[in-house]
Amino acid sequence: MCPPPAFNPNLVDFDCPACGASADLSEPRTVCPACGQPLVARYDLARIAAATTRDSLARSGTDLWRYRVVLPFAPDFPAVRLGEGGTPLLPLPRLAAELGVAALWLKEESPNPTQSFKARGLALAVNGAVAFGKTAIALPSAGNAGSAAAAYAAAAGLRCRITVPEDTPETFVIEQRGLGAEVRLVPGTISDAGKALADWAPAPEWWNVATFKEPFRLEGKKTLGYEIAEQSGWRLPESIFYPAGGGTGLVGMWRAFLELENLGWTRDPMPRLIAVQAAGCAPVVRAFEQGAERATPWADAATVASGLRVPAPFADRLILRAVRESGGTAVAVGEEEMLDAMGELAGSEGCFACPEGGATLAALRRLRASGEVSARERVVIYNTGSGLKYPEAWRAALARRGTGAGVS
Ligand SMILES: *Cc1c(COP(=O)(O)O)cnc(C)c1O
Ligand SMILES: [Zn+2]
Repeated sequence: MCPPPAFNPNLVDFDCPACGASADLSEPRTVCPACGQPLVARYDLARIAAATTRDSLARSGTDLWRYRVVLPFAPDFPAVRLGEGGTPLLPLPRLAAELGVAALWLKEESPNPTQSFKARGLALAVNGAVAFGKTAIALPSAGNAGSAAAAYAAAAGLRCRITVPEDTPETFVIEQRGLGAEVRLVPGTISDAGKALADWAPAPEWWNVATFKEPFRLEGKKTLGYEIAEQSGWRLPESIFYPAGGGTGLVGMWRAFLELENLGWTRDPMPRLIAVQAAGCAPVVRAFEQGAERATPWADAATVASGLRVPAPFADRLILRAVRESGGTAVAVGEEEMLDAMGELAGSEGCFACPEGGATLAALRRLRASGEVSARERVVIYNTGSGLKYPEAWRAALARRGTGAGVS
């Protein structure tokens, strides 16, 4: 079958890891047509490897489009771009010494458009909507995804509808409306926001770009793995701590490392992926500990880390599989630990972190104390967004500091 010209000629099709079905590029693709589970893009990696070397990437710009050979769009597709990706991998020497690990880096994602790593996925999803001929997008969001979607929709000239839990920090709602999106506040969590979309922004008119409901967001998040590999001189770290909500970045990194191995661009052992969640909403951690393949919905989900308040991740199977195949683990951290670690990233490394970022440092501290991370390891933690959008979390972190808790 001849793919439409908007797409990368080396993009073969979309596959369903759950049932093995595949879907070609002849029509807009959402989830698996056979079983309803997430689809993932499959490339002809042998052809890509024959035409491209990893060193040639240096000539391809500094944002995530430098990895265009492994992204779904044709070389001449006029993608809407806002400067997504290409964020620094910062050494954290002070924390590395304090924690006693061989090396520690922070993948600092707040320089992305709309100040979070959601820009990577939404850049791809909105361009995908354009490639499929869509004129309107919709999604439920806990905050950052909606802001990123609104920005790319504005730049691409698409309409955008967003449902958010009614306790979402106001900063996000203002930002989304400022960027031209229509926003509805919904009682409950992001799961309820997702259900509210069905009436207000129905398919097919409104192209649903919710997490894993179309295959392009995953491709955008995949670039995290490529960047970490390239920025560490193609010497993969031993452990990567990722704050997992819907899990796109975690599954995306795992796709990237598998592709890199198949491309022959690295021969290092794969990093262990550690899914970090908040103790108040830890469906992946619970399923991991039970040895289950699927996660059951978390009741009464509560955490200041709004990106982690995902009680029923749609891609639970893929997240658990990536964690297990990588030899990783899943860790839940408490709110106070998270806030203190957020303060620590700020106070000892100059990163005004979001709570999700603090969670990754708190989880590393735990696994270092238990010996599950050894002194020889090279470790990556994440700051997935700017702390500026979480005034309530920062107020709580500073109050703890004032009482002598947390950092001194
Ligand atoms: C969405 C979000 C996360 C979780 O990312 P997933 O890909 O959904 O697992 C983590 N941190 C921040 C700041 C987020 O906005
Ligand atoms: Zn399927």
